[in-house]
Amino acid sequence: MRSWGRLGGGAGRAGSADVATKKTKKTKKPTKTKKTKEAGQEIMNETAIVNARVFDGERVLDDTTVVLDGSHILRVGGPIPAGAAVVDAAGATLLPGLIDAHVHTSVEGLELALAFGVTTELEMQGMFTRDRRGHVTENDRMADVRSAGFGITPPGGHPSELMGGGDDDHDEAPWEDGDAAEDAAFWADVVMPFSTTPAEAVAFIPRLAESGSDYIKFMIDDGTVEGAPGLPVLDDATISAGVAEAHRLGLLTVAHTLTVDATASAVAAGIDGLVHLFMDQPHTAGIVDAVAASGAFVVPCVVLNASMMGIPATALAADPRVAARLDDAWMATLRSSYDRYPQGSLDDVLASVKALHDAGVDLLVGTDVSFPLPTLGGMAHGASVHHELQLLVTAGLTPLEALRAATSVPARRFALTDRGLIREGLRADLLLVDGDPTQRISDTLNVRQVWRRGAPLLPGASRSDA
Ligand SMILES: [Zn+2]
Repeated sequence: MRSWGRLGGGAGRAGSADVATKKTKKTKKPTKTKKTKEAGQEIMNETAIVNARVFDGERVLDDTTVVLDGSHILRVGGPIPAGAAVVDAAGATLLPGLIDAHVHTSVEGLELALAFGVTTELEMQGMFTRDRRGHVTENDRMADVRSAGFGITPPGGHPSELMGGGDDDHDEAPWEDGDAAEDAAFWADVVMPFSTTPAEAVAFIPRLAESGSDYIKFMIDDGTVEGAPGLPVLDDATISAGVAEAHRLGLLTVAHTLTVDATASAVAAGIDGLVHLFMDQPHTAGIVDAVAASGAFVVPCVVLNASMMGIPATALAADPRVAARLDDAWMATLRSSYDRYPQGSLDDVLASVKALHDAGVDLLVGTDVSFPLPTLGGMAHGASVHHELQLLVTAGLTPLEALRAATSVPARRFALTDRGLIREGLRADLLLVDGDPTQRISDTLNVRQVWRRGAPLLPGASRSDA
């Protein structure tokens, strides 16, 4: 995780999802399958996307037509139904909506993500647990979300080191406001799983599950690359007991690990996924083999590692396709960096990505994007998914492999069985881009249209009635 600014810092400073709910209701546009009566006959609300190059999440299809039935995919290939709205996608590529497998988000972040074709964000510490996201689930103007809730860490452990310091208001997330009573109610049922012993961690697992965590996150960080060495850190016995209890309850487990040692601990405990890639040293055959043998997936978040080394996302910010969609605060954030581990080597990180990929490890696109604060710099919601895709190709994945890492692979590893592929019956979460990102990865930024549950996000420039 990277932190999410002040939000995680304790009572009284909470960003209010209740407030966000009120705001979003105004723009809510339900777009489930509609049936309209015409001449006494019921007609389905069908849309046919035609003449597209279709990347279905795994490969490029021979079919060039995808038919939507309201919120879902009715058919891939086949005839255009009579009465369907037709979208001519000539010159463009249709992909499953992208998935960012490591975020800390907000309503604003989810809206921004969708504008960049990211239809699902997976929160790795945050508030969007199962019972707290109804306003997101039903609103097709923003990305969908899943959440770990809060991660298991010792008192004073990571990310505490990012929460302290000063009380000036310059680093608050912009949607924070301070109604103390509302904040207290907002935080009342949030599980903060501070644990030092195996028994404590085990006891928190069912509580996290009941409070709506979609997966269980373990923070394993002694501060080495955070500029805060000596942080209290979960010991191996606590991690192992917690992972075992989560598995007993059928829950997926993920770990925050930025060093080789922390990675080895998580893997030894039987973790299902690593939501960072170590950056304290070059990979060794030993650690690569250990990860591969364990079957764990890795969300490298190369964009975050670069930012940790003091490398801002300058080139991304200069891309007009990015700049056109970001406000000043996000642009300033992209152009800044965490800068906590300048001695790190981005080349080493890219080589580690390639080595894991070559060893057969599932890689997932993730960013660790959070809030528009320069101290959390180098990332912006949605935009940084495209940056990460480019970096995975730089590391040596083919464009097709990188695209799988943002679609079918995260869907499979997080058991999101209704998305991540263009298949009959799945959600119509789709991205249409000009060009061919299966050959040139940067074409993913040529966003022509985004559909979430079949609802087009952008004005229907390419939509016409047949
Ligand atoms: Zn994070």
